[in-house]
Amino acid sequence: QAKDAGRGTYRFYSEEMNAKSAFRLTMEADLRRAIEEKQFTLFYQPKVEIAKNRTAGMEALIRWNHPKKGMVSPADFIPLAEETGLIVPMGDWALETACRQTKELLDKGVALRVAVNLSTKQFQDPGLLDKVKKTLSEAGLPSQYLELEITESIAMQDVEETIATVEALRQEGIHISIDDFGTGYSSLSYLKKFPLHSLKVDQSFVRDLTVDSDDAAIVESVISMAHAMGLSVVAEGVETEEQLAFIRDRECAQVQGYFFSKPLPFEQLLDYVNAN
Ligand code: C2E
Ligand code: MG
Ligand code: MG
Ligand code: MG
Repeated sequence: QAKDAGRGTYRFYSEEMNAKSAFRLTMEADLRRAIEEKQFTLFYQPKVEIAKNRTAGMEALIRWNHPKKGMVSPADFIPLAEETGLIVPMGDWALETACRQTKELLDKGVALRVAVNLSTKQFQDPGLLDKVKKTLSEAGLPSQYLELEITESIAMQDVEETIATVEALRQEGIHISIDDFGTGYSSLSYLKKFPLHSLKVDQSFVRDLTVDSDDAAIVESVISMAHAMGLSVVAEGVETEEQLAFIRDRECAQVQGYFFSKPLPFEQLLDYVNAN
């Protein structure tokens, strides 16, 4: 047997590699089944308008309700979903579900815009615009209630094409925001050309802004730059009163973070909105 013949030479690394690829294969098979069996659910985190202490919108965040492992966080499966292309059907599901549930809220008199995260593969799909339009019309959701979040690294690839895509989405009335702003390598001169609506300051800067003067300076300058460019700003990851005070004093209008609410199951979101 070939395996036996080669043993002495590759054994010391093959065991570890086999364990890794076995884990990956299992995970990939699980992920495929999860898509077929719809084991996903969306949680929603409120975006709060500070001045009015009012829910201004929400972000849809995917969760995998794994039959054996329980709730799995996206950090643990989005990377593999991206690599395998499974992010596309998964992302379609997330977009459809977010639009449907947002329409459900609208029908109950709660008019909130929902932000859906897009991965690189989804954003680069030439059929994106048609898919989004079709999804909105099937859900019966007016396009003004949809926002798409893309990261800086997505935005900075194929800049001309990206600008055209963003422009086409904007023409439809869909909002576009840049997520995790400050962690990528945006060219400000390109950013200026993007027909964006908002920037989301990455939570890594917000986390330490009360103790780290560099982080404070970054948050402050992102906020003023965004305002100068006519964009709105959302500070992500606000957990404390002190962080909130800093953000509020810089006239950043919106925050998203545990201070106000963790991401909630759909049913609980309505309760949150009604109570606030
Ligand atoms: P993101 O889009 O930047 O989402 C914000 C993340 O920060 C969420 O993590 C949220 O739960 C977390 N967060 C919000 N406020 C706080 C806070 O005050 N403190 C702390 N420590 N964390 C806070 P989550 O839900 O685990 O999602 C992680 C990432 O996974 C998202 O980051 C996004 O990049 C990706 N993701 C989630 N859902 C989807 C999806 O449907 N499609 C795609 N392509 N990516 C998704
Ligand atoms: Mg996001
Ligand atoms: Mg983010
Ligand atoms: Mg993130």
